Amino acid sequence: MSFSQLNLAAPILKAVELCGYSAPTPIQEQAVPKALEGHDLIASAQTGTGKTAAFVLPALQRISRPSTLKGKGPRVLVLTPTRELANQVSEAVRTYGKFLRVRSGAILGGVPYFEQQRLLALPVDIIVATPGRLIDHLESGRVDFSRLELLVLDEADRMLDMGFSEAVQTIAAATPASRQTLLFTATWDRSMDALAKKLLKDPQRVEIAGRKTTLDTIEQRLHAADSMQHKSRMLNHLLEDKALTRAIIFSSTKRHADQLARELTEQGHAAEALHGDMTQGARNRAITKMKRGNVRLLVATDVAARGLDVTGISHVINYDLPKNAEDYVHRIGRTGRAGATGIAISFASSREADQLTRIERYIGQPLTRHVIAGLEPRYPLAARSGSGAGTGSRGAGTGSGTRRPGSWGAGQKQPSPALRVRRDSASPKFFGDRSDRSWSSNESYSQDGKRGMRRKDGASDEFRRDSYAKKSRWA
Ligand code: AMP
Repeated sequence: MSFSQLNLAAPILKAVELCGYSAPTPIQEQAVPKALEGHDLIASAQTGTGKTAAFVLPALQRISRPSTLKGKGPRVLVLTPTRELANQVSEAVRTYGKFLRVRSGAILGGVPYFEQQRLLALPVDIIVATPGRLIDHLESGRVDFSRLELLVLDEADRMLDMGFSEAVQTIAAATPASRQTLLFTATWDRSMDALAKKLLKDPQRVEIAGRKTTLDTIEQRLHAADSMQHKSRMLNHLLEDKALTRAIIFSSTKRHADQLARELTEQGHAAEALHGDMTQGARNRAITKMKRGNVRLLVATDVAARGLDVTGISHVINYDLPKNAEDYVHRIGRTGRAGATGIAISFASSREADQLTRIERYIGQPLTRHVIAGLEPRYPLAARSGSGAGTGSRGAGTGSGTRRPGSWGAGQKQPSPALRVRRDSASPKFFGDRSDRSWSSNESYSQDGKRGMRRKDGASDEFRRDSYAKKSRWA
């Protein structure tokens, strides 16, 4: 299918053409026509497969026609869980709306209110917002939703989970019942269905990922680690690899992210930290430096796990495993975007064995064990990982040794067949040719991706604090 078959207005097609996209991605191919027909949607596809355009293009199509209603409030509202993501979506609106007259803006926490008050006082077409700050403006009566036509929840599973659902429902209740609602997500939990039902009318489903949550274009490796020092030594080794052009290193705490970024800088690496305790200005600067290639290593907490689209991230390194299995999927999705390939390397100590088990269950496959010659772990990963994960003795040789545990370890608990990936149906050629940035569809996946657990970890607090700063009960 070509973009011209999507029946988008000529200025939108022109902008898409300028981006160099030769064909819609599967999620765009399926979601855009349904969205243009006016249906409510629950759309899921793996990270980095063009979801943003899949909702921004139909949003712009609406804006290409004049509103039938009087007023100056936004006609489209996109809600995102993080400020970085909101900025990115705003950028996408500008990119794809380049040849249209679109007035758009972002309403985010962590930045002064003044500019946002000015934005809301002017006629505006599209607002991209994080919920906390938007509710602040709502409560002070500055937002006019009377002509809102379209509400989009990006990273919808996150927007509907405990941290955000109340805020999202409050915002949705302030918009006209006649609105169209689109939910886009990479990971979907059936427990969200009830809440989705409240927000959506007769939704249609678009499921590109099927139940396969990770892309085969991302090579996933696991290194067993004895200690923090061992992790650091392995990290230093990996950083010597010239093929590692740009990497995000995920750490579980803000303090450690700062410390690691400092250590790496002292060792002569171009490294920056990114976490929720930094000012918004500093967060934006770190991302911009990464985007411009001035920084090779971004040491981040899960604030960078979702949605962040930086071209050319060759590696994601999980210095610590995420507590939540689905965060693993989001983290590694920072590489292998837009049809590119990527490498995701995770370190796991025995203390993280349970997290590893949850992750492997969630993605439906064991992570491939690797060892670095000379840096072999002294102890095998604790058996409670349940993943057949003895790592120490085998695979070492010259360079990185690899052991592909095609089968689950003898005597260890196997995941149910439904949890195991059927590689035969998960084609590695999900994307079209990387060079022409085109996608091919017709893929089918078979895998069960059960959500591991509700998040109660620090990452959640971080997200919440972003949008629920101190100004009001929401902010
Ligand atoms: P997203 O999943 O929306 O973050 O998009 C991931 C990347 O894919 C972004 O860098 C987009 O610019 C790129 N992209 C989106 N749609 C297409 C397309 N149809 N063809 C090629 N690249 C695309």
